[in-house]
Amino acid sequence: SRRPNETEHKTTCCYCGVGCGIVLTDKGNGALHVRGDETHPSSKGMLCSKGMNLHYTAMDDSDRLLYPQMRMNRSMPMQRVSWENALDRTARIFNRLIGQYGPDSVGFYISGQCLTEEYYVINKLMKGFVGSNNIDTNSRLCMSSAVVGYKMTLGEDSVPVSYEDLDIADCFFVAGSNAAWAHPVIWRRMEANKQRNPEVKIIVVDPRRTQTASVADLHLPLRPGTDVTLYLALARILIENGWIDRDFIHDHTEGFDTFREAAFRRTVAEAADACGLPEEDLRLAARYIHASRGFMTLWTMGLNQSVIGVNKNVSLIALNLLTGRIGKPGNGPFSLTGQPNAMGGREVGGLANLLPAHRDLGNAGHRAEIERFWQAPVPINPNPGLTATEMVDALLDGRMKAIWIVCTNPMVSLPDSDRVARALQKARLVVVQDVSSRSDTLAYADIVLPAATWLEKEGTMTNSERRITHLPKVLDPPGEARADAEIILDFAGRMGWGEAFSYESPADIYAEHVKTTAGTECDISGLSYAILKERRSIQWPFRNGEGTPRLFTDHRFPTPGGRARLVGVPDENTSEPLSPDYPLILTTGRIRDQWHTMTRSGKVNKLLQHISEPFLDIHPDDAAERGITEGTVVVVSGRRGQVRAKARITDEVRPGVCFLPMHFGKIGGDVLNRTNNLTNPLFDPKSKEPDFKFTAVEVVRY
Ligand code: SF4
Repeated sequence: SRRPNETEHKTTCCYCGVGCGIVLTDKGNGALHVRGDETHPSSKGMLCSKGMNLHYTAMDDSDRLLYPQMRMNRSMPMQRVSWENALDRTARIFNRLIGQYGPDSVGFYISGQCLTEEYYVINKLMKGFVGSNNIDTNSRLCMSSAVVGYKMTLGEDSVPVSYEDLDIADCFFVAGSNAAWAHPVIWRRMEANKQRNPEVKIIVVDPRRTQTASVADLHLPLRPGTDVTLYLALARILIENGWIDRDFIHDHTEGFDTFREAAFRRTVAEAADACGLPEEDLRLAARYIHASRGFMTLWTMGLNQSVIGVNKNVSLIALNLLTGRIGKPGNGPFSLTGQPNAMGGREVGGLANLLPAHRDLGNAGHRAEIERFWQAPVPINPNPGLTATEMVDALLDGRMKAIWIVCTNPMVSLPDSDRVARALQKARLVVVQDVSSRSDTLAYADIVLPAATWLEKEGTMTNSERRITHLPKVLDPPGEARADAEIILDFAGRMGWGEAFSYESPADIYAEHVKTTAGTECDISGLSYAILKERRSIQWPFRNGEGTPRLFTDHRFPTPGGRARLVGVPDENTSEPLSPDYPLILTTGRIRDQWHTMTRSGKVNKLLQHISEPFLDIHPDDAAERGITEGTVVVVSGRRGQVRAKARITDEVRPGVCFLPMHFGKIGGDVLNRTNNLTNPLFDPKSKEPDFKFTAVEVVRY
């Protein structure tokens, strides 16, 4: 029972896109406690290990950046300065560079951890006032292939399903996702469904036998890069057996004939051979899909983080369209977002190719609407800005001179770390706005701005099921740290745009943002902070006073003809080639208890108990060939760099494939443990999402 001086606050976990509800108890003596919020519809009281230990991160200020710092040149040490000094100098340099080299000489690289209001003001600042679309986010590394996949097939970047569909579907096709570790609360809902109904089938597609795959009814450990071949083969089996919904295809889709041609390019036997899978397993998967009443496809980084990520997305979504399994309870395609607010960022158009409320930068009407709404002093540039990985190129070749990095640690998280380091060294100005002194990127900063974090600022986030929740401010930030939006508004004022950025509070920013959604597919124009606070969370669109659990229930899609599109794509993988020097495929991913570059989760001892050091998973055959035994320290080499780790010999990876966790850098190791020393800068041509899951490497004893 609560003591009288304790206060309770309802908020949302700040780690992953599941967006679990949290009840935070402030004990009134500096101690905090978290528990799952039983009333939150997304999580129903559940939290995973990361969420359950969030209070430790909030109580531990030992790593916090407390005051602005800067250095006048790179050979000098950082010095404490006032906010005024730091932001005045930033504004002076931005103004000079924009005047001399044009607005595209500067850019913002922000984060799916940012609150929607923060995304909104940075996007408005860059696109409407600086006059450049160079604002991108680490969500580019996470779900941009799904965004393009949804738009190509469904006509809109919209997740059509709800978590409640996980409770009633009876066939789950989980592709490129270790949901049991990376989206644990979503996974628990699927497991609970299967426990209630043993007939439920789980099919897992993954080159690794992950925790998720280990409980599957059917695990398809395909060769990395052959996903499109697999989905087209499944489509072929469904079509050949008549296990498709002909009425749905006829009435609500277009492109069937072309898609059919793509699906019939290979025989099922040829496709199975290319994927390295038994043909009968493909046929069994198709039978499971056909026999089900509720069919959900779920996917995440294994599909998205690929040089053919969009092709993988559209081919998988096609399985739902062929079978008419969309817009009905327990059916539909479901991309699991990594970051907690990747969805909110998309809603305000916080990517280099988007405008607010899912408007398109390339659409003159959309640009005119937003220019008028913002009363922008410059026309919005019709050309897409630089995406995350393109910003690295632009810094290296001098097109971009200044980068402002907010709440992300690209020195560990972007591919090809050495290239990122050279790009940041080449920049004339690197501003790093962050929370923790543990970020590896700080070493490259000219100006450091200390930011507030979870519990220390107010705003909203949207989780993977389009559910918007309000996060209250509960604590004051330490030292001179300030909320990210407040920092940007202050900067905008120093650039001379104070009037357009004169919001009194996050609620004011939110109120402006929701006006941009009026009449769009993601309309939340009637959803105020007051309603959000009262009802706790709502799924967009918000119409007639209600949220929307499921989209496309009338089977009309937001395309010009109102039909969903079946898109037949080539099934070749264009990742970097293997060679005699680099014969193994390296794939990467998360471990259960850590989050991204570990600046937050790495502070919690309990979370280090599961896995505390970097490791390389390698198949027994590949290990034996190289004289590697369990625990041997190995060097993984690729065309761009090396990583050192202890070997774990396991048949959980396919022969010819090895695995490194993505998290370790300075924290938990050193630069020699940084997985992205190896990964390549190739990206999907449509989504610009990097190819993290396929790098050619060799492994030798250290
Ligand atoms: Fe937080 Fe995601 Fe775990 Fe939920 S599943 S508690 S949102 S990390």
